Amino acid sequence: MYNRREFIKQSALLGAATLLPAGLSATESFQSASSKKKPTQKPPAKQADTYTVNMSSIRAVPIPPRQISIPDVEGFKVLKGDFHIHTIYSDGDVRPEERVSDAVQNGLDVISITDHFECSPNIYQTERWNIDTHKDANYNIAYEEAKSTADEKKLLFVRGGEITKGMPPGHFNVLFTEDNNAIGAVITDWRKMMQVAADQGAFLLWNHPGWEAQIGNGAALRFTDVHEEIYKKGLMHGIEIFNWEEQYPIVSDWCNERDLALFANSDIHPTELEAYGIQSTLRPITLVLAKERSLASVKEALFAKRTIAWANGLIWGRDPWLPALFKASVVSKTITPGVLELTNTSSLPISVTIGGTVIELPKDIRRQVYRADGVTKITVANWLIGMNKPLEVDIK
Ligand SMILES: [Zn+2]
Ligand SMILES: [Zn+2]
Repeated sequence: MYNRREFIKQSALLGAATLLPAGLSATESFQSASSKKKPTQKPPAKQADTYTVNMSSIRAVPIPPRQISIPDVEGFKVLKGDFHIHTIYSDGDVRPEERVSDAVQNGLDVISITDHFECSPNIYQTERWNIDTHKDANYNIAYEEAKSTADEKKLLFVRGGEITKGMPPGHFNVLFTEDNNAIGAVITDWRKMMQVAADQGAFLLWNHPGWEAQIGNGAALRFTDVHEEIYKKGLMHGIEIFNWEEQYPIVSDWCNERDLALFANSDIHPTELEAYGIQSTLRPITLVLAKERSLASVKEALFAKRTIAWANGLIWGRDPWLPALFKASVVSKTITPGVLELTNTSSLPISVTIGGTVIELPKDIRRQVYRADGVTKITVANWLIGMNKPLEVDIK
């Protein structure tokens, strides 16, 4: 009789899942099925009532998480984040734990689940936007449900929410809240909600400022008096320049003028697969230049406005961090006087313009070299430091 180890080995050799009554070896079952010969060894004394399945022969090879490599920038770690995500606890389609797994699969370091305060869980489809129907809601539920999964997977997990009602200011995310229920307790007054969040030390982010449903069809993006009021009260710390599949270039100038942090967030509602596919480079990412890979460092970095927004092949950032990221990512060498060699050592998309020619520096290919004569300045066509203002780099 085969022992258990030999049995598993034998089953694997057969190259398929093997389901056998306990006590029967793979060879025996083959013999009895094909030649009807009497087994050479004694049959089991009693009817088998358990089975062993060798899963090793049918298990799919897991897809490793997406690797996004970006060198440190002036001593800061470049963390990959998404600070705008929905789950079934507002109008999203998936559970919080799945958002955590998807984020890890997509190579992210930090996320915040930001369900709408004003939208009760998807499972109550009727009147889900009627705040009277969810008076006893637990607005911390998504955070509480996914926290242990995030810890297990070593994903930095920020408690957050989205204040949604109260146009004209539009939607605001509150990040790093202490207790969402205290914010939900003043749900009929968006000004109070913002203030309670701020009193908890939260970071407040103006979401999708150009969303047509919010500003009206064809209307121009405006930093209105209400936004000015919010900003002056210290209740606006950042703005999304990217949201879902939209970008708002003017936000770059607003953030430069008012010292605000830029964000590229997914605002994902459907499944990851439906929204972007597997490990898609289209998924927006907010890069955070943090002292270390910790929640406290992420919070410090957001308030210090050390963020860079990356989506749809474009990278938006502010001085001095965007040039610093370029300097860290691209090795530039002068081979002989006037001959330049550029190498992209990061996963970031980089298109440079040299003498009117756009040259792609492919990501993740370290040994490709581009040479050009007489170069003193390059323009990084897809890295933007202001509206209509690509990054320019002097070559010494
Ligand atoms: Zn929103
Ligand atoms: Zn949202």
